Amino acid sequence: MGVVLQSVWLLLVISYNCLCFAIEPIKIGAFFTESQTSNSINWNVFKDNIPPKLEFIEPEIKLVSKSDTFEASNLVCDAASEDPGLLAVFGPNSLIESRIMESACDFLQIPYFSTHWRPMTTVDNNLATFNLYPDANLYSQALLTIIKSLDWRKFVIIYEADENLINLQDVIKYQEHREGYDKNDVLIKSLGPGLDYRPLLKKVAKSGIRRIILDCHSDKILDILKQAVEVKLLPDISTSFFLVSLDAHTLDYSNVAPGTNITTIRLFNPFDDSFQKVAEQYYPTIPPEKLPVQTVLQHDAMLLLATTITSLLNDDPMLDVSSESKYCNSTEPYEDTLSLINRIRDTVFPEGLSDKPIAVWDSDQPDEIHLTRNATEREAELQKRLMNHNFIVSSKIGRPYLMLSNLPGATGNARYKGYSMDLITEIAKLMNITFEFILTRDNLHANIVDDLINRRADLGICDFTITHQRRELIDFSMPFMSLGISILHKEPEVEGLNNMYAFMDPFSWKVWVYIVTLYLVLSLIILITARLDPDDWENPHPCNQSPEELENIWNIKNCLWLTLGSIMTQGCDILPKGISSRIATAMWWFFSLIMTSSYTANMAAFLTMQKEVDVINNVEELANQNKIKYGIMKGGSTQEFFRYSNNSLYQKMWAVMRNENPSVFEDTNDKGVERVISTKHSLYAFFMESTQIEYELERKCQLRKVGSWLDSKSYGIGMPFGADYRHAINSAVLKLQENGKLNELKAKWWKEDIEGTPCSSIFDEEGNQEELTLAHVGGVFVVLGAGLCLAILFAIVEFLWNVHNIAVEEHSTYFEALKCEVKFACNIWITHKHAKPDISESSSKKSNENNINRTIIAGAGSFLNVNATVLNRISNDN
Ligand code: GLU
Repeated sequence: MGVVLQSVWLLLVISYNCLCFAIEPIKIGAFFTESQTSNSINWNVFKDNIPPKLEFIEPEIKLVSKSDTFEASNLVCDAASEDPGLLAVFGPNSLIESRIMESACDFLQIPYFSTHWRPMTTVDNNLATFNLYPDANLYSQALLTIIKSLDWRKFVIIYEADENLINLQDVIKYQEHREGYDKNDVLIKSLGPGLDYRPLLKKVAKSGIRRIILDCHSDKILDILKQAVEVKLLPDISTSFFLVSLDAHTLDYSNVAPGTNITTIRLFNPFDDSFQKVAEQYYPTIPPEKLPVQTVLQHDAMLLLATTITSLLNDDPMLDVSSESKYCNSTEPYEDTLSLINRIRDTVFPEGLSDKPIAVWDSDQPDEIHLTRNATEREAELQKRLMNHNFIVSSKIGRPYLMLSNLPGATGNARYKGYSMDLITEIAKLMNITFEFILTRDNLHANIVDDLINRRADLGICDFTITHQRRELIDFSMPFMSLGISILHKEPEVEGLNNMYAFMDPFSWKVWVYIVTLYLVLSLIILITARLDPDDWENPHPCNQSPEELENIWNIKNCLWLTLGSIMTQGCDILPKGISSRIATAMWWFFSLIMTSSYTANMAAFLTMQKEVDVINNVEELANQNKIKYGIMKGGSTQEFFRYSNNSLYQKMWAVMRNENPSVFEDTNDKGVERVISTKHSLYAFFMESTQIEYELERKCQLRKVGSWLDSKSYGIGMPFGADYRHAINSAVLKLQENGKLNELKAKWWKEDIEGTPCSSIFDEEGNQEELTLAHVGGVFVVLGAGLCLAILFAIVEFLWNVHNIAVEEHSTYFEALKCEVKFACNIWITHKHAKPDISESSSKKSNENNINRTIIAGAGSFLNVNATVLNRISNDN
């Protein structure tokens, strides 16, 4: 049985002085209903505590039949008119008959003792009535204090009769006026007629509320609990029953749903030594802890009466307290001649039977309840219960929180791995509990809430955001991770920048065609103007003042070289001298200047363009454009955020998202990430929680996070409402946070569990890529390679052509000439060469490199090698 809160009703132990005078007969009326007669009432309590001069005439207990008020009043009047009359009356537990008897006693001024529950106090009206049962209003306050101290905010009240609700009136009123109260927080259900409570209990089970205040007769409690087991409301670690009946402690709960949290209230502490002594003496057949409240109260009433009479006789030993006859039909109302009634009212119980209650509620301090068990004891009891419980953890598959481990033959928890698994493993170690993972239906967060409400699970762990809406239905532990909604987007693709020939992009293909055409045309124009201009015809031998012939160096090769040199901004070692050719060249230089600077400027712009083309920097920019679509995951807290946001910007975005066709919503975050990556030209952005974005950014380098957080929230562990292990889970989470374990786990699953290179090592701190990759400039290498190949090709062709010429000149075979030339070319140490190779010498392998006296540069010049041409000419002249 669970926590037992007890308040102690003071019982009396009296001592008395023996005053032996004439024997005075005294009689007490006992009018009980049939259900009361079974209660053991021991008159010896009275007998043993009155002075010996009094002779107690043991009353025969008179039965009061219910709903016969006339008979009830007759019973009192008849007994009072006998000799001896009545000194006091013990009344029945039926309300109507009790009232009739009370007024008769009030008229006759006979003390009337009531020991059962009654809706409101009549003591003020009938001064002769003493109600030992807690006053209904007071009891209601006590219940409220207990409910407040238990911190129950959502519960079901099951009551038997309408009057029962009086006990709970303060609890209901308080809840209704509590801040944040929702009408579904307190359900009030009548037990109804009959003995089948299953339909009602099923409804309670369905409501998801697992705190039940049951106010019914103690006879029904066990049946109700048994039926609760049948409808699966029990056994359940998070279901708690609070039993209002003050006799609830007399029942044996050991066979009903062991481990269930049942709270009862007892008016006395049965474990107190003095209580046990009295109980064993007067009620030996009933274990002290099972004494019904009526028995205890009747005992108290007798003790109170005996104490008062003793004290009256102590004050005045001559007083005649014997019961005189009184008549209901008397015309004059009676007076309390003995002052017995006043005296009873003033009598203070000399001492209580118990001084070690577990929890005490005092009507003088109605808002306080004093728990006398310390926190360690309560903790230990809870721990004992938790250890026997295997916690069911509802979760969903989603990286990196929970993933399939794919271990062959794995069963139970070994089937899964991830952050959630590690987190609960650490918590379980601290709490000394066991747990088992179950996957929620359809892999939806909402269904984890459902699992907790319907008690299919004790805990919900995943990327489970603490939201206001969920907090209405379930409890959360303290947060284990903080986050906010942010935007996931792809690095914008600049058309062509990622292609190898991006260097071509600064000019359109038309411009390139014009440039090439102009290059050829300009070279031709320079050729023509140079040929026409006399200044370009020069004296080949400057020392000879009257040369026989003039020479013009501007052949097509040199013209092409001059124009190429200028557009490449490299210049040229020969320049035209004629005015016309110089004008043409100057114009070409001007053209080249503009074109190359435009190219350089454009190229630089293109390289930085990835930051400028269609780049969104924050949520406002995203909302204020319609080119880039944006979406969210269905059914998660991010969707709830947009749906219920009061912010006009987010409302607008929510409306836009809902109206998009095709839908911009995705079933999972993974699908959202895939869509961001696969949508061309970065035209899709996805709202996701920052933790998940961080995880993806580390793995998919083409992704980026846009702007700051839209909100700020946390993940927590979900629990059914009011789960009493919440405190233990909180302490465990706090410990993990303090000892750095939470950070460790995050680093493990976010940073370490990566296949390949983490993107953080590729990007600088702002997430920008630091250098251009081969993808951007590869084309330049290709052009260089192609140019070099062309150069080598020309070299080979020229070489072979030269070999052919030599063979013809030297009258040798082509093969001999080739052999000689190849051998010579391969010897890289030789830098001088015969103008006319000695093929015979070479073929007889007697080549003597030291004999080379003349240096003539010949042969192997390239198509563009002006020097070679000029020098050739000089060499020929020599
Ligand atoms: N963490 C979210 C939730 O608890 C799911 C992901 C999201 O909505 O972005 O519902």
